[in-house]
Amino acid sequence: MNYDRILIRYGELSTKGHNRQFFIRHLKDNVKKALRPFPGIEVQALYDRMYVLLHGADGGQVIDILKSIFGIQSFSPAVRTRKQLEDIEQAGLELVRQNFAKGKTFKVSARRGDKTFEYNSNDLNHLVGGYILKQLDGIQVNVKQPDIELLVDVRKNGVYLSTEVIKGSGGLPVGASGKAMLMLSGGIDSPVAGYLAMKRGVKVEAVHFHSPPFTSPRAKQKALDLAQKISAYSGSMKVHIVPFTKIQETIHKGVPEGYSMTVQRRVMLEITDRLRKIHNGLAIVTGESLGQVASQTLDSMVAINDVTTTPVLRPLVSMDKLDIIDIAQKIGTYDISSLPYEDCCTIFTPPSPKTRPKLELARLYESRLDLEPLIEEAVQNTEDVFITPNETAQEEDFSELL
Ligand code: ATP
Ligand code: MG
Repeated sequence: MNYDRILIRYGELSTKGHNRQFFIRHLKDNVKKALRPFPGIEVQALYDRMYVLLHGADGGQVIDILKSIFGIQSFSPAVRTRKQLEDIEQAGLELVRQNFAKGKTFKVSARRGDKTFEYNSNDLNHLVGGYILKQLDGIQVNVKQPDIELLVDVRKNGVYLSTEVIKGSGGLPVGASGKAMLMLSGGIDSPVAGYLAMKRGVKVEAVHFHSPPFTSPRAKQKALDLAQKISAYSGSMKVHIVPFTKIQETIHKGVPEGYSMTVQRRVMLEITDRLRKIHNGLAIVTGESLGQVASQTLDSMVAINDVTTTPVLRPLVSMDKLDIIDIAQKIGTYDISSLPYEDCCTIFTPPSPKTRPKLELARLYESRLDLEPLIEEAVQNTEDVFITPNETAQEEDFSELL
C-alpha cells in the first residue's frame, strides 16, 4: 500500500493562541509555494494539522522539500482508510509489512481523536496488533523499543495510518514575522544569519554590494548562488544588487585610512535602509558578530549603527565561528562561501582599520564628502533579481508570485 498523503504537525505554532490562524495561513502558503513543481497536489490546513494530498506526485521529492520549510515540527507519510476495523487492520498490516524484515519488532500506537468511534485506543492497539501478529510470520511485539511503530489516528473523517515520523525544520513560517533586508556578502556568516532570521519567521530580501571592475562578475554570482541556497527555506527570494564602485572610490580618496572602513559600512547600512523603505521591510539583518575581526567591536557597531534607528538583527552575535560553520555546512552554503572571489569590502580595506573608531570622527569625515547624490544614484541603479530554489536567477517580472 502506498501512502497517499503527508500529515504535517505544526510544532511551535500550537502555542500561539489566537494568532494561530495567521501562522497556519502563512505555513499553508509557503507549503503551496514550495510544492509548485507538483501541480496536482492539494494542501488542506486544519486547526491542528495539515495534509498534503499527493494525487500521484512523488512522495520522496515532496518529503525532501517539506524538510526545509519552517513552522513544521514533524511530518508523516500516511494513508487514510474508512472507519472500519477490517480496513484499519488491512492497511496497518500492509504498512508494517513494507518495513518488516526477519527479527524486527513492532507496536501499534492508536489515538482516538473521535471519541464516538466504537473502539478506544487500547482496544485498537490490541485488535490491530493481534491481527498483524497473526498475519506476519516471525514478527514480535516490543512495546518499549519497537523497530516499527504503527501510528493509528482515528478522526472524524477517517483513520490515518503511518509508520514514520520525519523531523521538520521547526521554527515559524517564513513571513509570519514580517520582512527584513539581509545584508548578504559572499562570506560564511551572512547566509547563516539570513537562514536563522528566516527560521524565526522573517521573510528576507537580500542586499548585495558589488564594485565592478574591482570585484568580478563571479563575486556577484557567488552572492546569487548563496541566495539561491537559502531561498529553499522560503520558496523564493529577491536579491538587490547595489553598484558601489563610485562610493567606495570616493571614500577611499577622501577619508583618512583608519576610518574608510567605518564610513563605508555606514553608507552600506544607509543604502540598505533606503531599500528597506522602498520595499516595505521592517528591519535589517547582518552576519555581524563580536570580536571576530577588527571591524567587529562594540565601538565599531556604535559608529556604524548611528545612521539608522531601524532595528538591526544580528542572529550570530552570540555564536562561535565553529557553530556558524556547522550551520553553513548543514544548509549547503559553506562550500560556495569558501570560494576565493574577492568581496567589495575587502578590496579597499586599509592595512589597519581602527578597531575603536570614534563616532564623532566618523560623522565628521563622512560629512566632508558629497555622498548624497552618489547614494541616490546607487539606489536608483540597484538591480533586482528574483531567485527560486531550483531555477537559475532570472530578471523577469515575477511580481504576481511574491
Ligand atoms: P560575512 O562572512 O557575512 O561576510 P564577515 O565575518 O566577513 O561576514 P564583515 O566582512 O565584517 O564580516 O561583514 C559584516 C557584515 O556586513 C556581513 O555579515 C554582511 O551582513 C555585511 N556585508 C559585508 N559585505 C557585504 C556586501 N558586499 N554586501 C552586503 N552586505 C555585506
Ligand atoms: Mg565578509
